[in-house]
Amino acid sequence: MDKKLYFDANATARIRPEVISLVVEVMGEVGNASSPHSFGREARKRIETARRQVAATLNVDAQQVIFNSGATEGNTTVFKGFEGKRILASAIEHPSIMDCGVALETIPVTSDGVVDLDAFKKMLSSGPSPALVSVMTANNETGVIQPVAEIAKLAKDAGAMVHSDAVQGYGRFAFTRESLGVDFLTLSAHKIGGPQGVGAMVIAPGVTPYKLLQGGGQERRQRGGTENVAGIAGFGLAAEMACSSFEKFQSLGALRDRIEVHFQTSPRVTVYGANVPRTANTSFMTIKGVPNDTLLMAFDLEGVAVSAGSACSSGSTRLSNVLGAMGVVSDPLLASLRISLGINTTEKEVEELCAIWDKLRARLLKE
Ligand code: PLP
Repeated sequence: MDKKLYFDANATARIRPEVISLVVEVMGEVGNASSPHSFGREARKRIETARRQVAATLNVDAQQVIFNSGATEGNTTVFKGFEGKRILASAIEHPSIMDCGVALETIPVTSDGVVDLDAFKKMLSSGPSPALVSVMTANNETGVIQPVAEIAKLAKDAGAMVHSDAVQGYGRFAFTRESLGVDFLTLSAHKIGGPQGVGAMVIAPGVTPYKLLQGGGQERRQRGGTENVAGIAGFGLAAEMACSSFEKFQSLGALRDRIEVHFQTSPRVTVYGANVPRTANTSFMTIKGVPNDTLLMAFDLEGVAVSAGSACSSGSTRLSNVLGAMGVVSDPLLASLRISLGINTTEKEVEELCAIWDKLRARLLKE
């Protein structure tokens, strides 16, 4: 194996060099942002700069941004706040929602992986008004962009509050909290070239979020715990950089399409979500005739990082729950494959991936 190829940016994206420099610089400083002395005030400045940076990308006031440890925490916080009430969430939400321990009803999706608006309207008109409706901005496996603004309007008319897990859409295409019409947005830094273990919950004016972590008075008493100052500073810079270069991200679409055209020369390959708007870096396909783990391992042995779906289900032999929701029937000889490009993925890397696929295809599928 001469070179490693990373095609798993939806699991975690490569951190931006400028972000690394800033994080290292801030880690070299000392000071708890809650301390009133000058060291503490410098740490506080770092956090407030990042808060303004993230707020600007979503056109919200800085006070509407609450930093946390990432989207798993953000999603859990939102859902815990509605525990025991009627919650509707799309059937393709991330495991951090599906498995957060709060009961919810799932809204079906079409075979293209888009929330089924007719089914959603029926759910709204049957039973009590939901307290919360949650639909992700873009799906982590298929990249399919969801009609969040439309869903939010219907949900609001029915008296519900609205949440969108924006992890896979943020920094990739343009939207604001207001353009989506939601009360809560949850974000994660490590999908946009920021550090792992940091994210934010963005709230609409006047919304009081559930307090998951009690204790300290940090984040305006909304999230206890000493802030990850270096991580937050890195997130702020990554957010600013990602949201000022959407065209760069869009340009990945041509590389992604090149991969799909090449992989689909095999009749055993089916690509999902290609007929609907998708994030430019993501391709999700199934391959008939090979088990999931065999395919992933074969790519790994060639030095290629891809996944079977969400990072949490990678390596699992079960069919991804997203494909299940899209009506794909589980089969031990049906592998799912997510290829997700990063902003620095090159044409040469794409050609290398295609060549490796040709080799694996001959060996595993005898084609
Ligand atoms: N939501 C979605 C759609 C994701 O893709 C991820 C990351 O895999 C998460 C939530 C969890 O984010 P974090 O790793 O910041 O907890």
